[in-house]
Amino acid sequence: MLEVSRLKPILKKTAIVLLSILFVGKMLLWFPQPAFAHKVEYKNFTVYATNPINGDVGKIFDSVIEQIKRSENYNAQYSHRIFLCEPGTFYHQLLFTENGSYASNMTFRHNIFIFPFADFERNTVTRAHSTTSYRLDQLLAHEITHTFMTDKLPSWKKEGYAEYIASYRVGYVESGDLKENAITLLTSKDYFLTNELGIPRPLPYFKARTLVEYLIFIDGFTFAQIKSDSITDDKTMAALKKWADR
Ligand SMILES: [Zn+2]
Repeated sequence: MLEVSRLKPILKKTAIVLLSILFVGKMLLWFPQPAFAHKVEYKNFTVYATNPINGDVGKIFDSVIEQIKRSENYNAQYSHRIFLCEPGTFYHQLLFTENGSYASNMTFRHNIFIFPFADFERNTVTRAHSTTSYRLDQLLAHEITHTFMTDKLPSWKKEGYAEYIASYRVGYVESGDLKENAITLLTSKDYFLTNELGIPRPLPYFKARTLVEYLIFIDGFTFAQIKSDSITDDKTMAALKKWADR
């Protein structure tokens, strides 16, 4: 049996090694800049990429600003860091999980990692081996909205509000478009549901957005009020169903 006096240094060394691994891991997430050779800045946004960035970055971010400025706790001075982690790059391998989302907004430093191919010219994000695209400006607006959320909240409130901010367009009809989406949600059995913009969204996101928009447009709640524990997805779903049936 190992004596306690001999075991102690081993435990100490093991602890140092484990802490070092943890530290390096955190540094990779908090300060990824060295791994990205290219950088473009526009207003308070910085985009880091492995490959040169083509297209009108300013046009995309002006569209993003139009969306995010409507979010509660919006801070126009905040410096946003966006890292394009396209398939095949080191950070894609490090962070992307199959069936994972298009992007990730890491807490603490709020570095935003984008995993599909991002095209600033065409305003699209496209996954590897996929022919369907999503809008780049909407994805960015969604992720940046998370940066302004400071509270711990159920996923449907966080994702629903981010989707609401990222999807809103001039001409949106609060009763009409919402009702159309509510009926789609209540009647379709598909996993991808097509919204009023003609964009297919995964069921959890589509549902979360519809519930949050119901609370905002029909109940007249602010997001600060929606955060209350008394508002649940089950209760909101029941109210939405009643409203859509009318
Ligand atoms: Zn999200």
